[in-house]
Amino acid sequence: MKKIAVVSGKGGSGKTMVTTGLFKMLSKTENVTIADLDVECPDAGIYINNKKITDKITTSVFIPSFIKEKCTGCKKCETACNFKAISFFDDAITIFEELCKSCLRCVNVCKTGALTTRKIDYGEISVYDVKGRSFFEGQLRIGDIRTKNLINEVKKLSEKSENTYVLYDSPPGTTCPMVAAVSSVDLVILVAEDSLYGFNDFQLAFSVVRDMKLDYWVLINKYVPENSPVMKWCNENNVAVGGCIPFSDKIHSHYSKGNNILELSEVADCLEKAVSHITGGAQ
Ligand code: SF4
Ligand code: SF4
Repeated sequence: MKKIAVVSGKGGSGKTMVTTGLFKMLSKTENVTIADLDVECPDAGIYINNKKITDKITTSVFIPSFIKEKCTGCKKCETACNFKAISFFDDAITIFEELCKSCLRCVNVCKTGALTTRKIDYGEISVYDVKGRSFFEGQLRIGDIRTKNLINEVKKLSEKSENTYVLYDSPPGTTCPMVAAVSSVDLVILVAEDSLYGFNDFQLAFSVVRDMKLDYWVLINKYVPENSPVMKWCNENNVAVGGCIPFSDKIHSHYSKGNNILELSEVADCLEKAVSHITGGAQ
């Protein structure tokens, strides 16, 4: 199985358009799975037609549960927690559920039985069949911070399929969720928005991918040949650009109405180059 993550430093760069476009193109000839790892705001499903839900899996973790009557006030749990998720106020502890990483160190150091465990749900994974191909969608519980946990669960599940390729629509940005999404993939498609803001965030995403020593392929979206900060920087830094999708109202309007992006040659031509790279062809 070849794992490909599509990333961009910034939201709105065209990452989901590229991921779902690649899924449609690759699906014509290959066994391919797509997984939406943008679990705080999954939207790849909007652009995937003919999908039938086959399963819904709730993801859970164990966190500490406090029994006040058994507490001696020794504060060992507060000291043991590396994430400041437990505080001792007056004569009782407060557990900050949102900060808890479920390591259960506090439960292990409490010798009176005042801390036990309880299960909480933090997300959901929807599994779809798309004409024989698979689509996994992670959705984090509103207000929860276990983004990385859910990303890892979605990845684990999607990698169980026997398909030749798995495509990850990664979360935007360059923080822990993005790093979790690209960890151990075989190829990163770096989507750069050709604006000054997009250029800044592309540089950040590029440095993460380079520091993690991952194989990458650069795609410039909303490309403006006569004034392209991304292309200029790539040329100056010997970074190969695999393909470009031009800045165009037509593309934006077509995509935002939910139409098949492969109907536009400006997009299809670029994604064909990416597919060729993914499948081991040219570029
Ligand atoms: S370690 Fe146990 S007994 Fe000590 S303060 Fe924490 S809950 Fe109470
Ligand atoms: S389970 Fe770990 S992170 Fe959560 S409160 Fe206990 S020590 Fe802190």
